[in-house]
Amino acid sequence: MRILVTGGAGFIGSHLCGCLLEKGHEVMCLDNLFSGSRRNIYRFMNNPRFEFIRHDVTNPITLEADQIYNLACPASPVHYQLNPVKTVKTNVMGTINMLGIAKRVKARILQASTSEVYGDPHVHPQREDYWGNVNPIGPRSCYDEGKRLAETLMMDYHRQNSVDIRIARIFNTYGPCMWEKDGRVVSNFIVQALSSKPLTVYGEGKQTRSFCYVSDLVRGLQALMGTSDITGPINLGNPEEFTMIELAELVREMTGSKSEIQFEPLPQDDPVRRRPDITRARQLLSWEPTVSLRDGLRLTIDYFDRLLRGDQAA
Ligand code: NAD
Ligand code: UDP
Repeated sequence: MRILVTGGAGFIGSHLCGCLLEKGHEVMCLDNLFSGSRRNIYRFMNNPRFEFIRHDVTNPITLEADQIYNLACPASPVHYQLNPVKTVKTNVMGTINMLGIAKRVKARILQASTSEVYGDPHVHPQREDYWGNVNPIGPRSCYDEGKRLAETLMMDYHRQNSVDIRIARIFNTYGPCMWEKDGRVVSNFIVQALSSKPLTVYGEGKQTRSFCYVSDLVRGLQALMGTSDITGPINLGNPEEFTMIELAELVREMTGSKSEIQFEPLPQDDPVRRRPDITRARQLLSWEPTVSLRDGLRLTIDYFDRLLRGDQAA
């Protein structure tokens, strides 16, 4: 198949491109390199089935594809809050442009949605039928509401134009190829620990997240894309839940670092708890994560260790 991956030079997108190439597909990686990097896709550049298109999804483009994975959008709060209006445009105009291609060429399209559609949830763990508790006017809204509208667009193109859609609600994902300055918690803690700098825990560190290793997530995305008849959203994430203090302690232990923990102010609207209910994914996709946090962190620490020591092949 010929497969378009928007955001393909980003963290998750580059892993997805690699898996699709391994399966023998043709991959078009479309990215404006805002939070992605050529470094993530260097290894595919000599593959005749790989093509890099530097383009911004907010601008229309004419392409032909059998399937579209729409991942283009900065995912770290630091990045998506740099230019919030652009984040909204990427989620709204970008998704409309990709849905336009899907409609014209009758391609199946998968939208990378997020656990952020649940906001600061009143229901725990979060199931797909929970409508969420999102602040529509806060600093995270450009991303949260942008992704909610992207889901709305997907459903409306499906109802109105019979576009074949898939919606993945992705929970916190980590692994090699995260940008060292990404600002998300796993990369921050590992880079800080390896550089003997204090680990910056926001608030009291009692807030929880559930961390999915990237290979599990990418397997889930492909399983969802491969199913014949799932239209509604599906949670993809690891249901093990950790506080940020627990994560900091684990990273310190696994890196052997003597870095101290430094408490910093909790960002506005930072969700208190987050854990996916993955019953639907288990039943409908026969999918569940297999990589434990400890195993995933080991691989991620190794990656950052090589990167920080200047290993270009990291
Ligand atoms: P990332 O920032 O590493 O990758 C996003 C990619 O999209 C980057 O390569 C960036 O340059 C590109 N991009 C951004 N705006 C663009 C635009 N206007 N036009 C073209 N390309 C653009 O983030 P990631 O962690 O790989 O996330 C990928 C997708 O998964 C995103 O849609 C994100 O919202 C979603 N997601 C990720 C997580 C996570 O924990 N990693 C959780 C939930 C959802
Ligand atoms: N966080 C932290 N220290 C950091 C970065 C993040 O304590 O250096 C916290 C953040 O406040 C949040 C959690 O870690 O509670 C996850 O943050 P991240 O930005 O990775 O993802 P998101 O908030 O989007 O889930």
